[in-house]
Amino acid sequence: MPSAPVLDVRGLTVEYATETGPVRAVDGVDLDVGPGEFLGVVGESGCGKSTMLFAIARLLTPPAEITAGTVEFAGRNLVTMTEKQLNVVRWKQLSVVMQSAMNALNPVATIGAQLKDTMIAHGVKSKDDIHDRSVEVLKLVGIDPIHLRSYPHQLSGGMRQRSMIAMALLFTPELVIMDEPTSALDVVAQRSLMVQIKQLQAELGFAVVFVTHDMSLVSHFSDRLVVMYAGQVVEAGPTRTVFDRPVHPYSQGLLDAFPSVRGERRHLRGIPGRPPDLGNPPPGCRFAPRCPVVIDHCTDEVPELYPVGLAAGRCLKLVASPETGAR
Ligand code: ADP
Repeated sequence: MPSAPVLDVRGLTVEYATETGPVRAVDGVDLDVGPGEFLGVVGESGCGKSTMLFAIARLLTPPAEITAGTVEFAGRNLVTMTEKQLNVVRWKQLSVVMQSAMNALNPVATIGAQLKDTMIAHGVKSKDDIHDRSVEVLKLVGIDPIHLRSYPHQLSGGMRQRSMIAMALLFTPELVIMDEPTSALDVVAQRSLMVQIKQLQAELGFAVVFVTHDMSLVSHFSDRLVVMYAGQVVEAGPTRTVFDRPVHPYSQGLLDAFPSVRGERRHLRGIPGRPPDLGNPPPGCRFAPRCPVVIDHCTDEVPELYPVGLAAGRCLKLVASPETGAR
């Protein structure tokens, strides 16, 4: 990567304290995002994506706790920051767009009031500045400023998500973290929101970490992909490389599970079985119980993330035959 990453996560580990012992939902995750880069994080529901994003933004609440690792953002470790220090960073340099705007927005306050509250909380005092910036950010996301007076329920799902994005862009942050922001939308609204996020990114230059269970959604939009399985990164690489030549059998399975829009007609397969219980993960490779190409060592030897060209995969077969990959 030519310039220093905006976000550099190393060995991030998060555990939920439960009655039956700790559940390690995020286990030693490494990832980085360059300035203006779009990083997609994909994986089945329950693999730890949201927990990881919340850990990065330091928004976790008990029983979840970061037990190891660092989250360097703009050169400083967020993990050791106090709430006061974090408040300077959040919104202004790093903002988060949640899965459902209906839950994240206050239902009894207008969009204008919510933009205003956020600005006041971060030290903007002038009424004119607040008004001008509110109009500006709504226009930025394609919403008529007349909706400053609208309540969330008066907007469509797409407009609500857009107003969440407007809020996230109030202070032109360097990084916007997005947790399935399009999941409540229909396919057409989904695509139009994705296109808009990309346009805003090109215009304003912020980096994005975008979490989704839908690999096809990020295929045209992300520069690099991280595939997560059972709390760990199992594959990472440039998006095209991961799509064209996935090195981990799980990534291959995810790709086989959705239809190609333009490609050849093919039989869609799901991945048989279920992800493991994170409170008691299998020894060895966590994907071994579901893996179609499992070999003897997979059930007792823990694989590392092995580099393969521009990508990397957590699969023992890559060490056995790096040329052919895991397929
Ligand atoms: P994703 O965003 O990929 O769907 P999550 O981050 O929501 O995954 O959850 C990851 C895992 O964390 C879950 O599979 C579950 O094992 C564990 N988990 C989540 N919330 C709790 C909780 N409150 N208590 C215990 N374990 C939890």
